Order: sequence, then C-alpha cells, then structure tokens
Amino acid sequence: MTTSVSFEFFPPNTPVGVEKLKTVVQELGALAPQYFSVTYGAGGATRDKTLSAVMDIAAAGFEAAPHLSCVGSTREGIAGILSAYRAQHIRRVVALRGDLPSGTATAGEFRYASELVSFIRETQGPDWHIEVAAYPEVHPQQRYAAQDMRHFADKMKAGADGAITQFFFNADAYFHFVDEARKLGVTQPIVPGIMPFHNYGRIAQFAQRDGIDIPRWVQMKMEGFMDDAASIRAFGLDVITRLCERLIDGGAPGIHFYTLNQSALTLELCKRLGIGAKV
Ligand code: FAD
Repeated sequence: MTTSVSFEFFPPNTPVGVEKLKTVVQELGALAPQYFSVTYGAGGATRDKTLSAVMDIAAAGFEAAPHLSCVGSTREGIAGILSAYRAQHIRRVVALRGDLPSGTATAGEFRYASELVSFIRETQGPDWHIEVAAYPEVHPQQRYAAQDMRHFADKMKAGADGAITQFFFNADAYFHFVDEARKLGVTQPIVPGIMPFHNYGRIAQFAQRDGIDIPRWVQMKMEGFMDDAASIRAFGLDVITRLCERLIDGGAPGIHFYTLNQSALTLELCKRLGIGAKV
C-alpha cells in the first residue's frame, strides 16, 4: 500500500512565480497527492493570492485546500472567505489561528483555532474537511506541553477531521505526540509535516524561530559542508528519507511535504520512498 501524500505551497507574489507554481503542481501531481494546500498570511494579507493559487490548482484537476487563519478577523470576514471558497467548490481547509504581525492593534473576534473550527462546522456544515495544526515539539508560545496537548485535543474535538504537524526532525517527538493525543481521546489522523532541506541556512532559521530541534549531529555535519551544495543536498536527502521511513514504518497515516514551491527534492524523496508510480 502506497503512502498518501499532500504538498504545501505559499501563494506566489509575482507572475513568474505563478507560472512556476503551475509547473510544480504538474510535476508533483504525477504522484497523485491527496491534495495541495496553500498558506494564508495572518490578518488576510494574502487573501486574494491564496484564492487565486487554489483556483489554479483546482483548474489543473487537483484537490486544493486553502489555509485560513482567524486572528485579527471578524466572523463576517471569515464567513465571506468561506462563501467565496464554497462558490468555487472548495470544501477542504486548513484552519489556523495565525500570528498577527507585532504592533497590530486588534485581535479580532477569534482567539484560538478551535473557535475557527467550531465556526466553520456550524456555518458550513459537515461536508467540509477541516485540517488543523499540531506541534510535536510544543507550540513555541506555550510553556507547558500538557496544556498545549489539552488545547490540541479540544481543537480536534471542536470538529477537525485531521491534523498536520509542524515540521520536525525527531521521529520520537511525533510518536510521543500521537500517543499522548490518543490518551486524550483524539482519534483523527495526525499527519507528519516534513520539511526537506531546501536550503539549510533558511530551514535552520525557521527551526530556531519555531522552537524545532535540529539534532546536533545534523547541524554539525551541515555546517561542516560550508558551501558544498552537493554534499548538503545528498546528506539532507538521506536524513529526511530515513525520517520518513521511520514515520511510515511506525504507522504515520501519510506525509505532508512543505515544498517551498519547489519540486526537485520532494520528487526525489518520494521516489526513494516508493511514493507515486509514475515518477
Ligand atoms: P491554536 O491551536 O489556537 O494554538 C495557539 C496557541 O494557543 C498554542 O500555544 C495553544 O496551546 C494555545 N491555546 C489554544 N487554545 C487555548 C485556550 N483555549 N486557552 C489558552 N491557550 C490556548 N500561519 C499562518 O499565518 N498561515 C498559514 O497558512 C499557516 N499554516 C500553517 C500550517 C501548519 C501545518 C502549521 C503547523 C502551522 C501553520 N501556521 C500558519 C502557523 C500558525 O498559524 C502558528 O503556529 C500560530 O501561532 C498558531 O496557530 P494554531 O492554529 O496552531 O493555533
């Protein structure tokens, strides 16, 4: 049985980026993904671009899932966005709280993603598929892991169909998270989010910002390669392949790849993992 995959993009900013993404969608589409998701700038910064990217994906014949963050938003505003998606036959969404840029005055009418999940369920009914975010290494603004887990379980019980994790490099953190969630009665799939080493420096910055552990031996090897792009690529692929193998062998229900709108590394990883017959 082949592992199901989904791929995440950000909405491109330029006409060139838009065209490039269409090519990437075709390349990754050959792997028959469950869906492609497109991120959303908190406070609505990318509202139109996210919708446009989602429409391009749907027009290419694939299932598309816009991300939707609620912080800084009103119920009326969120309802308007959901109606626009409904009109375009979109029924899958990744529901998030988001983070407002510092200095933003209003928190809006939603405090947490769980409130957005409830709102979508109440206003859109049962035919929407709602994914939410999970943090195997604890949400960076949360001091206590147990509290974070309780909030996660509440979010799932508010009506989510599944969760996608923040990226991580430690399979045990994922397995522990899933075990703890099951103890709190969470039964929905929790899909690991995997970040290939597209660019080590950038990924290390993301990891530091979001409290994600890159094992020391991986850091030391990567930093030791200096500007040797071929070694960074080869080692990064080996590390991520091994991580995915452990996750799949351990029962992960699928893999969600953070593609950063690029196909090469994700295609190579899927090939190594035997995902997608046509590649
Ligand atoms: P929540 O689930 O609401 O949790 C946020 C914090 O509040 C946590 O610390 C939690 O423990 C705490 N909390 C929750 N409920 C309560 C409660 N009742 N009382 C007290 N505390 C509570 N950001 C974007 O802006 N756009 C995107 O497209 C985007 N996509 C993402 C996709 C994935 C798969 C992931 C993992 C993250 C994504 N993010 C995105 C980042 C996300 O918006 C941030 O991590 C944000 O800080 C939290 O969002 P959340 O939905 O996880 O929030």
